[in-house]
Amino acid sequence: MAIIGIDLGTTNSLACIYQGDKPVLIPNPFGETLTPSVVSIGEDGQIYVGSVAKERLVSHPEASASSFKRHMGTDKSYTLAGQDFSPQDLSSFVLRQLKEDAERFLGEEVTEAVISVPAYFNDNQRFATKEAGKLAGLKVERLVNEPSAAALAASRISGDEEGSYLVFDFGGGTLDVSVVDYFDNVVEIIAVSGDNRLGGNDFDEIIARCFCQQNKMDFDRLSPQQRASLLQLSEKCKRELTTQNQAELIVEPENKKLAINNLVLAQLSQGIFDRISQVVANVLRDSGRDMEGLDEVILVGGSAKMPVVEFYLQTYLKKKPCIIGSPDEVVAMGAGTYAGVKERKKQIRDLVLTDICPFTLGTDVFNSTDVNNSLMSPIIERNSILPCSKTGLYTNPGNYQSHITIGIYQGEEYYSKDNVYLGDIKMEIRPVPKHQACIEVCFTYDINGILEVEVTDHGSKQVKKKVLTSNSLRMSEAEVEQRLKQLQAFKLAPPGGIRTKLVLARGERLFSQLLGVRRQAVSHAMGQLQSVLQSQNDQQIANALIATEAVFDQLEGVCP
Ligand code: ADP
Ligand code: MG
Repeated sequence: MAIIGIDLGTTNSLACIYQGDKPVLIPNPFGETLTPSVVSIGEDGQIYVGSVAKERLVSHPEASASSFKRHMGTDKSYTLAGQDFSPQDLSSFVLRQLKEDAERFLGEEVTEAVISVPAYFNDNQRFATKEAGKLAGLKVERLVNEPSAAALAASRISGDEEGSYLVFDFGGGTLDVSVVDYFDNVVEIIAVSGDNRLGGNDFDEIIARCFCQQNKMDFDRLSPQQRASLLQLSEKCKRELTTQNQAELIVEPENKKLAINNLVLAQLSQGIFDRISQVVANVLRDSGRDMEGLDEVILVGGSAKMPVVEFYLQTYLKKKPCIIGSPDEVVAMGAGTYAGVKERKKQIRDLVLTDICPFTLGTDVFNSTDVNNSLMSPIIERNSILPCSKTGLYTNPGNYQSHITIGIYQGEEYYSKDNVYLGDIKMEIRPVPKHQACIEVCFTYDINGILEVEVTDHGSKQVKKKVLTSNSLRMSEAEVEQRLKQLQAFKLAPPGGIRTKLVLARGERLFSQLLGVRRQAVSHAMGQLQSVLQSQNDQQIANALIATEAVFDQLEGVCP
């Protein structure tokens, strides 16, 4: 009965276990640590998660979904092969896949997980992540902020257990920047800031739009299939720019082309850089630190590998960032370490982990200049260290009012309506002239993200309490149970023969993308592979897979 750490990413997900005295990443059936967070329903009704699903995203967009983490905690619904799924449902398939991979790797049952989430995730998004865990049959008591996990892992990997860090985590769809202290075995997050709508996807789109402009096409008018295909080629082009200074994007059959280098990419990305510097400036301001007060800048996430990003950061911060291990594995290593702490593995049980509340929690107060537009009154301010308990004192705005409603909100906006509404408490109070009542509102927010609100009317000595877990978007225990049963009817594709399925899915994807002689070459290679598959001779099949992949690599212009 093991506890694993999971980095449930927008683009890629990873699982990690604390073994011996270190976090160990868990390989998927392809022997890789990164599993694309993509889900697809096959013609056989099986659920594909990872690389096969990523291929199918292009060839079968109507049966596939990606980037659903962006919509966690919302009522968005996805239709895959005619069936409806919430972002939680789709995330649960990814989690189930990681759970099964871990069980195969460890040879024991995995019952619990510590899952990392972007620091900027609000309460609804965090709750939805826990729900996804439950739907995957995992107990999820603890979520950790991705920057906390990254800082923890980075400091332990570097062996430098003392210091103040700026953690810059730039993934596929989220940016999290945080200031973290690690002293005397205590990891403390001083401040976090982020943009959960900024990531590597944006560079893909910039390249794709540039390609369209160059070739007199309208990006916004492409069909979903054309768009997915172009974005995939753009991503490949972007990755090439990480290892070389120039890259070319070619679309068959018209032989449409875009030649691009890092200088041009940097110029096109100015809007992204402006948003990055805004987030970095925010976190420095909130932490009360400047660059002199920080020992290291740690690069985390796949997009932090990009030379244009590293160069921009170095220029902006006037400090050379350091890269520890593989940037896209750091968060998972940290989540695995947290899982070890949760399990009280003796080598690390002394490690104390504090966390912070990344957003402000407060109540609404009467606005005398605009009675219909109440104001936000902060009680627990963002970046408060958790667990945290704070009290605010309020009074009655009206003469002899007998009831009061305390609205509970989360966010940084001036008017309460612009923040996220979490719930309210209605209670009777002793009727007194206006401004005479004394109403105490106490917020207690714990490390697992549970908010308890207690309201006391000093006049009547009445107390009313509410634990905030319910929300219109949230499911009840019974609903979760029911959905769990429904989702269990969907079986994940078994790992046996998964490589064959990947090669076939890639062939279908290439067939949908290419035209003319290249497309014929795909058909030919697929036909040959299919006939060898019928032989059921393992050695011949293995050889045929290698040969087919070589043909596909060549067609895609990938160097083997
Ligand atoms: P997330 O945390 O959002 O799941 P990751 O940290 O795995 O994401 O980063 C995924 C992003 O990193 C994608 O946009 C991908 O294109 C980009 N990426 C990964 N490797 C590279 C690379 N070598 N060069 C440029 N971008 C990369
Ligand atoms: Mg990430």
